[in-house]
Amino acid sequence: MSEFDAIFVGAGHNSLACAAHLALKGWKTGIFERSATIGGAVQTREFTLTGFRHDFGAMNLSLFAGSAFHRKYANELNRQGLEFAPVADCFASAFPDGRWFGVSNDLEKTAGRMAAFSAADAATWRGLVAAFPAEAEHLFRLLGSPMSARALAGTAWNLWRKKGMSGALDTGRLLLSSPRAWLEENFESPYVRATLATWGMHLDFAPDIAGGAVFPYLESMANQSFGMVLGKGGADTIIRALSGMVTSAGGTIVTGAEVAEITVSGGKATGVRLASGEMHIATKAVIAGVAPKALTGKLLPNGSGDAGFDSAMQKFSHAPGTMMIHLALDDLPDWRAGAELRQFAYVHLSPSLDAMSRTYQQAMAGLLPDEPVLVVGQPTAIDPTRAPEGKHVLWVQVRMLPAEILGDAAGKIAPAHWDKVKDNYVERVLDIIESYAPGLRNKILGRAVFSPIDLERENPNLVGGDQVCGSHHLAQNFLFRPVRGFAGWNTPVGNLHLTGAATWPGAGTGAASGYMLAQQLGGR
Ligand SMILES: Cc1cc2nc3c(=O)[nH]c(=O)nc-3n(C[C@H](O)[C@H](O)[C@H](O)COP(=O)(O)OP(=O)(O)OC[C@H]3O[C@@H](n4cnc5c(N)ncnc54)[C@H](O)[C@@H]3O)c2cc1C
Repeated sequence: MSEFDAIFVGAGHNSLACAAHLALKGWKTGIFERSATIGGAVQTREFTLTGFRHDFGAMNLSLFAGSAFHRKYANELNRQGLEFAPVADCFASAFPDGRWFGVSNDLEKTAGRMAAFSAADAATWRGLVAAFPAEAEHLFRLLGSPMSARALAGTAWNLWRKKGMSGALDTGRLLLSSPRAWLEENFESPYVRATLATWGMHLDFAPDIAGGAVFPYLESMANQSFGMVLGKGGADTIIRALSGMVTSAGGTIVTGAEVAEITVSGGKATGVRLASGEMHIATKAVIAGVAPKALTGKLLPNGSGDAGFDSAMQKFSHAPGTMMIHLALDDLPDWRAGAELRQFAYVHLSPSLDAMSRTYQQAMAGLLPDEPVLVVGQPTAIDPTRAPEGKHVLWVQVRMLPAEILGDAAGKIAPAHWDKVKDNYVERVLDIIESYAPGLRNKILGRAVFSPIDLERENPNLVGGDQVCGSHHLAQNFLFRPVRGFAGWNTPVGNLHLTGAATWPGAGTGAASGYMLAQQLGGR
């Protein structure tokens, strides 16, 4: 039995960032991770062949690079070996008719490509990019502040002071709009609309879901203005740097150590019991980086003492699932739409707003989509160190999928458990990529596939393959994430806190929930 000031359940990047800050403030921190590898959704492993490094989950580290944690600790992270690979050609969409559109960090390139679809859209784009710094100030302040009435009032006051009432209302309207509403108001080209709308599908914002417009807006403007970054050698560069910060400040990280219970006495969390039976004491805080249902349904066997909280946590809603296909390749895909697509970090295959809406609806109805949205990541186009010379890895994210399969929208695959279905479904995905990049199959040297259920097996926070650990729809975001009354990483149990993607400000590699909680506990 060991005694710590703070014990962390799980070694996701939010917990690591929180532990790093607290350890540097002199707290004795202990992190217990059930897997053999730390990092949760951010890991890089040789899933296919020796020398081919695949990002298990997150590949795009722009949120981490732009985070408050990185701003504060850039020197410490760099000392621990953090290295980014900057991306100039960020994301593109290829279309079935052989055309493509893409956003690069060079405004002339993007606007020139857009003008080929619509001169009016190119002019709108330039206007939006020029206005972005003023808009971003408020949006980033909102996303980077605790979800308290006080912080919200400060953000709203600043917004009103700088933009006046009508400007503030415009920002509010953007936050409430669906991707389709915002895109149709601003752009006339269906190609441009589809390219930008796909960012909503990285979360669970199909084109018609209210509250989703801000994601295509922020991603496209940020990629245009700052580019994108990947991790040099793999996304796990942030995990190695964070864990280096924790351990060099005296913290302890234990892998293969599943927490089975958070111990509670007199209404306060006192420590953890591991699945092995080992007990550890936490004198100031237990910080759980887990999914809501696991906290109240498993780790607190007697509940939290607040029946309303427990019931709301059990009703926490997850987004549709993801399948990840990792390919080791002889060469990058030969995109029919144009060789330039080979240099983009992401090539989206999601032909129209209606196709995306249909895919989401199919997944929500338990159907295997006939035409899933594909995010084809080409990390070795940017960072060749991830594969042997001249070879490549492909990172294919298949959105959106049901956790439990009730049928097949294409009427070809009989409903069954994912373990039985996944090999067939991969063929559907490869057929789609082949139709855009003929010859892909001949370039495959090795492959590793994670169905939605495999993702959850790797990391129980990815419930049903939900890569964002909980729907981000308006009713479960902002003051309601994870549940009303507990958006401040608190729980009804004294000294027990929740961090991670299920908490404000949600999924992604920005380490924001961990860092804001750390500042709340240990000061700035
Ligand atoms: C396929 C995929 C692609 C993604 N792509 C991107 C991207 O490109 N860019 C981006 O910004 N974001 C991306 N995301 C989202 C982002 O990676 C996650 O939102 C984020 O990493 C979640 O971090 P976290 O701190 O909440 O913890 P997690 O990463 O979920 O880690 C939680 C850890 O806790 C451990 N754990 C859980 N229960 C216990 C227990 N009882 N005892 C001990 N340990 C436990 C788990 O094993 C895990 O290691 C992606 C996610 C996935 C899955």
